Amino acid sequence: MLLCIKQKNAGRNTVRFYDPAIQASLETHTALEIKLRRAITEQQFKLYYQLQVDNNDFILGAEVLIRWQHPEKGIIPPIRFIPLAENTGLIVPIGQWVLQTACLQLKAWELSLSPRHLVLAVNVSAKQFHQHDFIEEVLTVLQQTGADPANLKLELTESMLVENVEDIITKMNILKSKSVKFSLDDFGTGFSSLSYLKRLPLDQLKIDKSFVSSLLSNPGDAAIVRTVIALGQSFGLDVIAEGVETEAQRKLLAVYGCNCYQGYFFGKPVPLTEFELLFAQQ
Ligand code: C2E
Ligand code: CA
Ligand code: CA
Repeated sequence: MLLCIKQKNAGRNTVRFYDPAIQASLETHTALEIKLRRAITEQQFKLYYQLQVDNNDFILGAEVLIRWQHPEKGIIPPIRFIPLAENTGLIVPIGQWVLQTACLQLKAWELSLSPRHLVLAVNVSAKQFHQHDFIEEVLTVLQQTGADPANLKLELTESMLVENVEDIITKMNILKSKSVKFSLDDFGTGFSSLSYLKRLPLDQLKIDKSFVSSLLSNPGDAAIVRTVIALGQSFGLDVIAEGVETEAQRKLLAVYGCNCYQGYFFGKPVPLTEFELLFAQQ
């Protein structure tokens, strides 16, 4: 519904149009943004850890997934605040907190679990990666925490590769030269050009969970999965399937040549203490 409002102080012949639905949505966004800013200063975030395993169920590490621990509303999933954080730029301080927390944890494991090295995968949003000081930020966090860069895997999404690809390649090469790893998330959902893919210093392709979920029911998606695995193999990359929920999916993925897995079949994202219990049981 569009309301037509005459404003007293806006001049004699001025009318303004006002849509209550848009106004309500703006107010909700503004309220959420204020709460999100407070969440950053009051450190209301928490990392959950989701197992990543190889073909023998050996735990290779985890992907860290952020949760907002709201004082009244409880745990809020990232889908409810990451898009707003990206639009407002708040993803930059949030992403920095995630990176710092993950690297502190890597260092703690390096000290206590040696010689087993767990790798942590950290999601990096496009806005964060395109910050002019992103490289400096990552290197500073690694230096300050003392975490081994080889145990840090940055997940970039395929959708990031639509602009500034040269800049992305340059930044990736700098971090790669320090041993940081890279995984290309949500692979298959975007339109990456094969010639760019060849130039990206990647370690891993991550098959999007939408293809995994319909692997057994949709021959088209099964063909995409097989193609991504073959592509990864021909580029000498690891291929991880995300969203693996059943044994049948996992078996078929293995037949196709997949070598890493993540999904509810192996474990849901859990807080640190639960993750460490899973690890200790192995
Ligand atoms: P993503 O990076 O694609 O993460 C995978 C999502 O799939 C996670 O949702 C995970 O909980 C979920 N998942 C894992 N296994 C299964 C499964 O077997 N079945 C199903 N149905 N889902 C599964 P989550 O934790 O809600 O995260 C959603 C998205 O939020 C992430 O998608 C990522 O894009 C974003 N996100 C999460 N943490 C961060 C972060 O620290 N930084 C940034 N920039 N984005 C983040
Ligand atoms: Ca991810
Ligand atoms: Ca994904």
